[in-house]
Amino acid sequence: MEHTLADYAPIVGMEAIQEIRFRAEKLEGIRLRHVNSTSVGGGVAEILNRLVPLMRETGIDASWEVIRGGEAFFEVTKAMHNALQGKSIELSEEMKRTYLAAQEENMRRIPLDGDVNFIHDPQPAGLLSPSTRGGAKWVWRCHIDLSNPNMQFWDFLRAYVSGYDAAVFSSPKFAKDTGTRSFIIPPSIDPLSDKNRELDAEQVRRVLEKHGIDPSRPVLTQVSRFDLFKDPFGVLEAYRRIRKEYDVQLVLAGGEATDDPEGASVLSRLCAEAVSDPDIHVLCLPATAHLEINALQRGSTIVLQKSIKEGFGLTVTEALWKGKPVIAGAVGGITLQVKHRITGILVNSVDGVVHYTKVLLNHPEFAETLGRNGREHVRQNFLLTRHLRDYLVLVVLARTGAGGIIPLDDAIGAIDAREAV
Ligand code: UDP
Repeated sequence: MEHTLADYAPIVGMEAIQEIRFRAEKLEGIRLRHVNSTSVGGGVAEILNRLVPLMRETGIDASWEVIRGGEAFFEVTKAMHNALQGKSIELSEEMKRTYLAAQEENMRRIPLDGDVNFIHDPQPAGLLSPSTRGGAKWVWRCHIDLSNPNMQFWDFLRAYVSGYDAAVFSSPKFAKDTGTRSFIIPPSIDPLSDKNRELDAEQVRRVLEKHGIDPSRPVLTQVSRFDLFKDPFGVLEAYRRIRKEYDVQLVLAGGEATDDPEGASVLSRLCAEAVSDPDIHVLCLPATAHLEINALQRGSTIVLQKSIKEGFGLTVTEALWKGKPVIAGAVGGITLQVKHRITGILVNSVDGVVHYTKVLLNHPEFAETLGRNGREHVRQNFLLTRHLRDYLVLVVLARTGAGGIIPLDDAIGAIDAREAV
C-alpha cells in the first residue's frame, strides 16, 4: 500500500511534514534520477523503494533505474565492495575492463536525463562520463564504509567520484577525500512499510510457528544477507555458548541479493552447521518477505547484528524501531544508532555477545528500557521523512555552492540564512 506524506504526521509531527512540503515547493517539476545496482535485497533498494514515490508526491519528477550487468560484472563489483571496506584484493586490468564495459552498456540504456542524477554506491559510479554529463548535477551517494579502503580500488573509483558535483556519506566516519564537496546524510527506514508497520501478536506468532520457532522460548535473531562481513559464524558460535546455559533459539534470516554472488556459499555452510540442532533456524527468504521479516524481528527476544563491517545497518534501525533490545557490532553506522547501554548494546567480540545476551536475558526490565530508548532515537533521527527533507536540501545545495564536508543540519542553516536574506 502506498502511503502519502500526511500518513506520517502522527509519527513525526505535522511540522516535519510541512517543512518537507515547503522545501519541495521550490523544486516542483525538477527531474531526479536515481541509479543503483539492485531493485531488491539490501538497504539501498529498501530505501529507494519508499523514497522515490514520496518524492513524486511532493511534485518532483523522480525515477529509479537499476544498472544491469552479467555475472562477471557483479563478481567485480562485489570484490570492489569488499575491497572498499578494507579487504585485501588485487585489482586486475581485466576487472577494470569488465567494470568499464558494463558502465558503457548501461550509459546507452539508462536515461541519465535528470536535472540531478543520484548515483548510488560504486557499482554504477562510472556512469558519469563526458558523454553522459550533460547539464545535470551529479551526486554520488555512498552507502558503504570507506574509512579504510583498499587504495588500489579507491584510487580507481576516486577518479570517477572526483568528477561529481557532490558526494554523500552516511556518517562522518565514512567520509573520504573525494575531491568534491561532501555531505553527511544518514539513511532511514519507513515506519509504515510492511517491513516496519505495527503487527498484532497473532500475526507474529503465526510467522514464528510457520518456521518452527517456539514463541514461548527466547529467540535470538540476526536478519542480514549471508555475507561474512555480517559475521553469521560469530553469531552461531555465540549462540552455541549461550545455549549451554539458556534455552534459547537462534534465527539467521537472510535472502539473496542479485548483486551478491558470495551469499549462496555462506548460506550452504550455515545450513550444514545447523543440521544437527533443531533450535537453529537458517531461513532463506524471498526478497519480498517484508512482513515475515517484520514478524521475525518483533517475535525476537533480542536482535543481534554482529557485523564486523557495516555501512549503516538498516536491520539495526528496524529492530530499534520495534522497541527490541539490540546487541550489535561497534562498527560503521551502527554506532550512530546504538549508544552503548542507552539505546542498545555495542560489542567487539563473540565474548561480548555471549556476555550481554545473558545480561539481557537475566534483566528483562533493562532490555525493555534499551528498546524504548532505541525506538525514540530512531523516531527522532532515522525515519524516512527526515531523509526526504535532507535530499531536498541536498538538491538545492548541489545546484548552488558551499564546500567542505558539511553535516546537513549546518547546510540547512546556511540555506535558510540565504533564503532569509
Ligand atoms: N533484508 C531483507 N531480507 C533479507 C535480508 C535483509 O529484506 O533476507 C533487508 C533488511 O530488512 C534491511 C536490508 O535488507 O532492510 C539490509 O540493509 P542493511 O543496511 O542492514 O545491510 P546491507 O544488506 O545493505 O549491507
